[in-house]
Amino acid sequence: RQPSRERRFAVFDPAMHARALAEMELERDLRRALERNEFLLYYQPIVSLADARITGFEALVRWQHPERGLVPPDHFIPLAEDTMLILEIGRFVMGEACSQAIKWAERFPNPPKINVNLSGRQFVNSRMAEDTSELVRQFACPTSLINLEITESAILTDTDQALAGLEKLHAQGFELSMDDFGTGYSSLSYLHQFPFDNIKIDRSFVEPLVREPRTAAIVTAIIRLAEILNKKVVAEGIETPEHLTVLQQLGCTYGQGYLFSRPVDASTAEEMLTKSPW
Ligand code: C2E
Ligand code: CA
Ligand code: CA
Ligand code: CA
Repeated sequence: RQPSRERRFAVFDPAMHARALAEMELERDLRRALERNEFLLYYQPIVSLADARITGFEALVRWQHPERGLVPPDHFIPLAEDTMLILEIGRFVMGEACSQAIKWAERFPNPPKINVNLSGRQFVNSRMAEDTSELVRQFACPTSLINLEITESAILTDTDQALAGLEKLHAQGFELSMDDFGTGYSSLSYLHQFPFDNIKIDRSFVEPLVREPRTAAIVTAIIRLAEILNKKVVAEGIETPEHLTVLQQLGCTYGQGYLFSRPVDASTAEEMLTKSPW
């Protein structure tokens, strides 16, 4: 027999109560953080594996909390998504990425692209493509400097709407990357349907690569597939020289990971650009 509504709610669960309170507090803090400009971007280089040249940066949001210090995105993006505050954070991230992209384009002859992560919540808006282009135009940023990273789960909710939006963005000159490739259920079907330029091999494939022949076989297949489809491959989470060697042997052209650099602030990223072989 189902417990009655009253009975279910009569049970007081202190742990659940504490969690709810913590979430409310976090939500309030997130709103305040937006008002007080406490978000900032860190940049992780994406390099050409053959010569370690920096071809771009992935922009990764951080929260500079007055007491808690630098808060990583995993601690606040999920709640920001639940409360839709992610839309405002997303606009901040895009604006900031655009201003940085332009600064570097003025300074460096072969400017790096900046990769911006899009949340699934941003796709719920049927004017997502228009809003994004408008924002980028306001910053006078050429769309060719921005690469949009999209995960499979981000386009899952309304695939048709996401497809229409991404086709518009692609037509406007944005590059598109399929993020965390291989971790979802329909990677191949989305790769086939959507106008992705890049495939980012998830770090869960890179880590076991050196000891598991099965993983090496899968990564090889992804790289060959990308070649045939004329897409660039970026391996995520390259942490050791061994990871790098194996990926190079398998023909992977681009990569990202702690071996090259952790995500760093804008001025450190700029310093790396001045030292990167062009
Ligand atoms: P992601 O898009 O898959 O980003 C890559 C994550 O892997 C980053 O974590 C990065 O610091 C980390 N990483 C890079 N190289 C290595 C490595 O060699 N080893 C290991 N173990 N990790 C590495 P981060 O910055 O904590 O971001 C976590 C996730 O938060 C991102 O995963 C992305 O899903 C989300 N995120 C970050 N910034 C944004 C944003 O501006 N908007 C949205 N919607 N999501 C964001
Ligand atoms: Ca990403
Ligand atoms: Ca990723
Ligand atoms: Ca991820």
